[in-house]
Amino acid sequence: MMCIKDNIAAINLQIENACQQANRSPEQITLLAVSKTKPIEMIEQAYQTGQRCFGENYIQEAVDKISQLTHLQHIVWHYIGPIQSNKTKLIAEHFDWVQSVDRAKVITRLNEQRSCNHTPLNICLQVNISQESSKSGVAINELAPLAEQVHLSPNLTLRGLMAIPEKNNTTHSFQQMKRLFDDLKQRYKTVDTLSMGMSNDMNEAIASGTTMVRIGTAIFGER
Ligand SMILES: *Cc1c(COP(=O)(O)O)cnc(C)c1O
Repeated sequence: MMCIKDNIAAINLQIENACQQANRSPEQITLLAVSKTKPIEMIEQAYQTGQRCFGENYIQEAVDKISQLTHLQHIVWHYIGPIQSNKTKLIAEHFDWVQSVDRAKVITRLNEQRSCNHTPLNICLQVNISQESSKSGVAINELAPLAEQVHLSPNLTLRGLMAIPEKNNTTHSFQQMKRLFDDLKQRYKTVDTLSMGMSNDMNEAIASGTTMVRIGTAIFGER
């Protein structure tokens, strides 16, 4: 049987070891548990071990789960899937973070639809770092104006960058992302998050300076 508690402990140990190798502190890394397609019982099990940050990709599935888990205090929901413009309202109403923002229209809508009674929605811009035409994400040369737009949106807070590099060139992409992140951090004092690294390339991402790893399979099993 899948033991989520053991899986999370193993991942945290792996993070510690990778940090030690890279001369970094494990406190610099946030573990995002990616729970897409997995039942709420698994999320509850992960929560019981102390895990607080969860990532979801499919909006209707996510909204259903979030509404059923309101008893879990201080749980933090990250939307990490592709964004259709007609889904921005649900995202703005139900999530704490959105990591997959990649165009002006989506920024405008999220800012309009985030209630000013909420804390601002935390935003990471997704960068198409491997320049794959099929992938979502903003091109490097379009990053600056979008970052400025988020910065100027009162109901949004610019937190950083997210990327899903192509499998065969991850090290180079991770290092490029780190440079973009450092530049952005210099310009905006709210920026503190570089979200990169998944189950298969977590150690590399930690060596390259990630601050948030997004782990699904290694915690919840194959999808
Ligand atoms: C599914 C997903 C993950 C988790 O991937 P695993 O390989 O299962 O760890 C991370 N980030 C994003 C954007 C995803 O869609």
